[in-house]
Amino acid sequence: MNTLRKIAENFNKNIKVLYEEPMSNHTTFKVGGKADVFFEPHTIEELEQIAACLKENSQSFFVLGGGSNLVVSDAGISRAVISTQKLNQISLTGTADAAASANADNAESLLLKCAAGVLMDNIAAFCETNSITGLETFSGLPGTIGGAVYMNARCYERSISDVLESVLYLDTKTGKTATYQFNGKDWAYKKSPFQNSGNIILEATLKCAKGNAEQIKAENSRYVEDRKSKGHFKFPSAGSVFKNNHAFGSPSGKIIDEAGLRGFSIGGAQIAPWHGNFIINTGNATAKDIHDLVLYITETVKRKTGFELEPEIIFTGTGFDA
Ligand SMILES: Cc1cc2nc3c(=O)[nH]c(=O)nc-3n(C[C@H](O)[C@H](O)[C@H](O)COP(=O)(O)OP(=O)(O)OC[C@H]3O[C@@H](n4cnc5c(N)ncnc54)[C@H](O)[C@@H]3O)c2cc1C
Repeated sequence: MNTLRKIAENFNKNIKVLYEEPMSNHTTFKVGGKADVFFEPHTIEELEQIAACLKENSQSFFVLGGGSNLVVSDAGISRAVISTQKLNQISLTGTADAAASANADNAESLLLKCAAGVLMDNIAAFCETNSITGLETFSGLPGTIGGAVYMNARCYERSISDVLESVLYLDTKTGKTATYQFNGKDWAYKKSPFQNSGNIILEATLKCAKGNAEQIKAENSRYVEDRKSKGHFKFPSAGSVFKNNHAFGSPSGKIIDEAGLRGFSIGGAQIAPWHGNFIINTGNATAKDIHDLVLYITETVKRKTGFELEPEIIFTGTGFDA
């Protein structure tokens, strides 16, 4: 039995741990081998205990949100996986000066506190029920708020950094929780200060305002319908594969189309016939198929145009991790 598994088996029995958990069940691409040890904390305190135990035993970990930007290797993942999906509390925390300044029409400004594992779909539903406006463009974004903050997800010209007030996180060096107060200097297109920090996002507080329930519902549906019409949910995928780079003068999808790659496939991984920047799993893709296809696109585009596309999706697990 491996060391990590022994540690997990002797850990707090009240905290849910799964062994040999297929990661294909936890990624929107539906690929990935097994996680040796998969922790599912239900509270921030449980997550802190897990992180402390792993640190004490010099074990590394991977934080999993909704798995919607991930390719986990076919050989699985030997680091501990900490899933945030059971951390799903959401609450309104009142007004704030920062929120007020973001709210042009002076409607009542509010802050929405979301635990890291809250699904973006649940935020949209909460906003509809409670007449909260300001987050509509993120309606239909797969995954969790923790993942969206980490990635600085961007939807319809708005990034998470445009609505972020603060983040409660676990500083894994000190083992203590800390609050990050939003500072625009730390953020850029698809960049957040949490990337490669090793810290764990526990809660995000978002700026929003009181709005009209019917309008919010209509806007949310409009964005979801637009995604459907663009084929986002037709096949398993992780959304856009490559970041856009303004210096290239065209979106990555257009560059890939113009390189003649639309519809090209390796194994069960295919460049979506309707969108150059989407790779889809046509049924039996492996993580290797997806990885090989990403390499093929990168090399072909580089050869034909000189542009170096930068992947947005994250590869992790045995063979992918450095
Ligand atoms: C159909 C489809 C459409 C998409 N459309 C868009 C789009 O319009 N815009 C866009 O930006 N993205 C889009 N994506 C990609 C993806 O949904 C986003 O990047 C999303 O924000 C990832 O969130 P997640 O919870 O699934 O993160 P995961 O995929 O689980 O993780 C992504 C990264 O975040 C880290 N992470 C997750 N949670 C935490 C945490 N609590 N603390 C620290 N690190 C954490 C993980 O370790 C990993 O490195 C799309 C994906 C799909 C499948």
